[in-house]
Amino acid sequence: MTAKLIDGKKIAASVRQQVAAGVEARRLKGLRVPGLAVVLVGKDPASQVYVRNKRNACEKAGILSLSHDLPADTSQAALEALIDQLNENPTIDGILVQLPLPPHLDADPILLRIRPDKDVDGFHPYNLGRLVQRQPELRPCTPAGIIALLDSVDTPYRGQHAVIVGASNIVGRPMSMELLLRGATITVTHRFTPDLAHFVRDADIVIAAVGKPGLVKGEWIKPGATVIDVGINRMPDGTLNGDVEFEVARERAAYITPVPGGVGPMTIAMLLQNTLYAANEFHPG
Ligand code: NAD
Repeated sequence: MTAKLIDGKKIAASVRQQVAAGVEARRLKGLRVPGLAVVLVGKDPASQVYVRNKRNACEKAGILSLSHDLPADTSQAALEALIDQLNENPTIDGILVQLPLPPHLDADPILLRIRPDKDVDGFHPYNLGRLVQRQPELRPCTPAGIIALLDSVDTPYRGQHAVIVGASNIVGRPMSMELLLRGATITVTHRFTPDLAHFVRDADIVIAAVGKPGLVKGEWIKPGATVIDVGINRMPDGTLNGDVEFEVARERAAYITPVPGGVGPMTIAMLLQNTLYAANEFHPG
């Protein structure tokens, strides 16, 4: 069996189109367009690319994008003061602080300071708590995007064993809650899990989010499984690879995401969706 590719670019484009339509519907009702503030501290080249992509995507969807590019030596107090100001700004529905922050800054109090109704990354403990308690509001973008990919191939969830490789705050942990919410049986594996192969071999759904190229061997994939590769690894020849041994895995899986072009495009699409959601649900004026 050769797996069908799940085309993240195409699915993300359709989410973005729906968001653009939602923004337009607000405009026609005489409501202001949603606004997203994107805060970048310093000049990390990868972060600059991510931030530029997010700003461009906002503009294409008709969302107002407010840029705050701060110098690398910005103090904790100055960054917190900016968050306070954005929290009170009535034209802003979402606040995104690009991570990682420079080492002298502490990200946790910054993320806690973003008002939960403007936390479009879904990282605030309030929003994670809502997800844990089966009442999600603003959902972490990458796991929410993965659910959209799984829905696109009619994943049944109930009765399925989902194995998540990686237990980070931004992917693995919220991913486990999204899948549990839909009735899958969950195993979360991480750096202290002995015999990863044992778990992956039993998985109907594999979500790989570690950042180690080829960690998940293709021969571990159960025939007919669905494989979602979140990993983004820059190889010495400049190409991007995921965490799954793609060529072997695709001969066993029923569905698989490519890297690039799978999960990556979904994350920004869900950020736009969260910004529209925050405007409609929490700041409808
Ligand atoms: P992280 O470094 O915060 O977490 C990695 C996790 O992998 C940890 O829980 C760790 O315990 C686990 N791990 C390490 N070695 C392991 C092993 N041998 N077996 C099982 N688990 C192991 O990483 P992250 O921020 O979650 O990112 C993971 C990958 O996903 C990276 O490549 C990152 O670039 C990518 N990513 C992509 C997107 C996207 O939009 N496509 C979004 C977020 C992260």
